[in-house]
Amino acid sequence: MCTQQWAAIPVFPSCPECGGDLQLRPEEDLRYVYCVRGTCPFNGDNAGDVVIQHLQPDEGWPRPEMEGRKIPWITPVIGDRVAWAALNGARVREALRHWLCQVCGESLDRRSRAWVAVFEGVVAEGGAMHKRCFAFSAAACPALRKERARTVVVEVRHGDQRNAWEAVIGRLIAHGMSHGQLPDSLPL
Ligand SMILES: [Zn+2]
Ligand SMILES: [Zn+2]
Repeated sequence: MCTQQWAAIPVFPSCPECGGDLQLRPEEDLRYVYCVRGTCPFNGDNAGDVVIQHLQPDEGWPRPEMEGRKIPWITPVIGDRVAWAALNGARVREALRHWLCQVCGESLDRRSRAWVAVFEGVVAEGGAMHKRCFAFSAAACPALRKERARTVVVEVRHGDQRNAWEAVIGRLIAHGMSHGQLPDSLPL
């Protein structure tokens, strides 16, 4: 078998109704996959829930590229396309449980600092990042770029992710009460 050629053939998740390929529709919301068979009753599902895990890019830095952009570790690859607006649910859970960086998938324990983005009192989905990886996200992620003025960048440590980042929100509230406003960033 020619490994290289095999790797070039896109493999798609299967439709639970008819077994056909589930694909992203580039002209539609990139969070969802749809069955390629027009007659199939299956009506779309979260791309992050149907990811074929062993076909996802590995952890590491720099990130591999598709469609001219670097792919974060938690971003689902569906066949030959990237679900840029979706999150790989299994990897999000793994990152929280094992304290991994959502962008590169590497451990956050080996480094002293990790960061999350907090938007309107809620920590952005996907979890913590290395400083290097946060800088990449802030530049590359359209959602983060758009909301940067209303986002607080908070330094975090292992354990802060418990109870939906309760400790992080607590520190932000305490800072807000003593300073009368929220900062752009809040180091530990
Ligand atoms: Zn189907
Ligand atoms: Zn990282």
